[in-house]
Amino acid sequence: MKLDMLVVGAGFAGIYQLYKAREAGMSVKVLEAGEGIGGTWFWNRYPGARCDVESLDYSYSFSRELEEEWEWSERYASQAEILRYMNHVVDRFELRDGIELNARVTAAHYDEDHSLWHVRTADGRHHEATWLVMATGGLSVPQKPSLKGLDEFKGPWYHSARWPTEGVDFTGQRVVMIGTGSSGVQMTPEIAAQARQLTVLQRTANFSVPAHNVPFTPEALKAAKARYSERRAMGREAITGQFLNANTKTAAEMTPEEQMAELEYRWRGAGGGFRMLRAFADQMSRLSTNRLVAEFARRKIREVVKDPRKAEILCPKDDLPFGTKRLCVDTNYYESFNLPHVDIVDIAANPLVEATPKGVRLTSGEIEFDALVFATGFDAMTGALKSIDLRGEGGVLLRDKWEHGPTSYLGIGIAGFPNLFVVAGPGSPSVLSNMVHSIETHVDWIMKLIHTAQAREARRVAARQEAEDAWVQRCADEAGKTLYPQANSWYMGANIAGKPRVFMAFVSGVPLYRRIIEEVAANNYQGFDIA
Ligand code: NAP
Repeated sequence: MKLDMLVVGAGFAGIYQLYKAREAGMSVKVLEAGEGIGGTWFWNRYPGARCDVESLDYSYSFSRELEEEWEWSERYASQAEILRYMNHVVDRFELRDGIELNARVTAAHYDEDHSLWHVRTADGRHHEATWLVMATGGLSVPQKPSLKGLDEFKGPWYHSARWPTEGVDFTGQRVVMIGTGSSGVQMTPEIAAQARQLTVLQRTANFSVPAHNVPFTPEALKAAKARYSERRAMGREAITGQFLNANTKTAAEMTPEEQMAELEYRWRGAGGGFRMLRAFADQMSRLSTNRLVAEFARRKIREVVKDPRKAEILCPKDDLPFGTKRLCVDTNYYESFNLPHVDIVDIAANPLVEATPKGVRLTSGEIEFDALVFATGFDAMTGALKSIDLRGEGGVLLRDKWEHGPTSYLGIGIAGFPNLFVVAGPGSPSVLSNMVHSIETHVDWIMKLIHTAQAREARRVAARQEAEDAWVQRCADEAGKTLYPQANSWYMGANIAGKPRVFMAFVSGVPLYRRIIEEVAANNYQGFDIA
């Protein structure tokens, strides 16, 4: 049966897309690879997994009733709580029967003669739809490093993004963990609390800031909810789609005392988390200002970590501007290294050579342990889309089109791939923003475009090549005005060997981006052919 719409992925994006399409009276189905809904929150169930965007912001805003009735228990929600919330949303809005689980999409081919998409899943099933929405997420294809001889290792190994559902008990074990991004930083204190010994292998020190997570008291939650619409409105006008009380002054406009007071406020309890990215208006564009923040953060690390050897390894180097690799937000990460059984090893200086039956060999010698944990991240932004045999007009394979990096128009449409939309894809604020906010913005915008096409009885909606080229150039120009491209980050594709080095997100913020896409819509969807 031909559907109006197929959606790939049942995370935050796919669930909301399903809700909106049904609201519009469309026939729609979501295909989800996992055996449960939740996307990133289904898969990433490693110890300590928690969202570092505050729960009151990292949640749907489309339903006032939902906002009112759901009670977040903490300032930053745990993976389990977010997954409960998503299941609640699916049940509350009666969406479950629109989602097919265990349905991994392996191919999607555009049929030019009939203006529709043929979609196949791993079990050989075939579906057809006019519209195809890729809600596949930016961080859904895990990266296991090609550690030589891993098969030789006799103990168990785990990846943060494929954690066993039943959990892992490390009590009494010697554990080695590779990777110090957000996942590794969150896991460290949790594994340290169980393991007899934890050794963290770090290739690059990144910055991490304290979350200051707290449980909500009923009074605090009630007060926050009383001003929810104001909070959402402030979020919409903030660069990352969440209100972080951004300082509008540059560092040069402040005295050294004012600068320090600003940084202290952001590091301490009243601030915390991503507020540290907004201490000065020019901190992501001027190196001298960024250094003030970086030096402040290094001082804090040295204050917390008592052993100077460990502290020096944990301090990010001067060639990594603060925040240009995704900032980590932690609870007791640096404090964990004051425990005698927790150590950090700099594998940039002392490289990892291979796995052995009892552990791993570094240049300096072998470390023996019982279990190995990979917190080595993802083939970010493009991994999920490139893993599908996704073919547009003329049979062009997306994987080939994106050989030199992802290209899109507004991060939503891809030239040569009509009637296909990407939610929070490369070329949009996506991973630099509060994802749930960006997802709602995209889905609402896509639905309006579809309504426009339907009203005109159009069968084909496609981004024009020249519009895509101009957008790709604009994204690169905007990124070039910032310090972001200086880091070997996953934003740049630098964490995957051989991946093209391109800054993959729209860097200039949620409010500007929203104004651009609203203008495009107001100008008759300039840059799209609606035929
Ligand atoms: P990540 O940020 O990419 O970190 C991966 C870590 O593994 C890095 O330290 C990396 O070192 C290291 N690594 C990768 N390949 C390696 C290799 N071959 N040998 C040695 N080390 C290697 O991945 P992640 O921590 O899973 O986080 C990814 C993103 O997911 C985050 O940035 C965030 O956007 C999201 N996330 C969010 C939350 C949250 O909301 N709290 C939690 C987890 C993840 P290099 O730096 O040298 O590449």
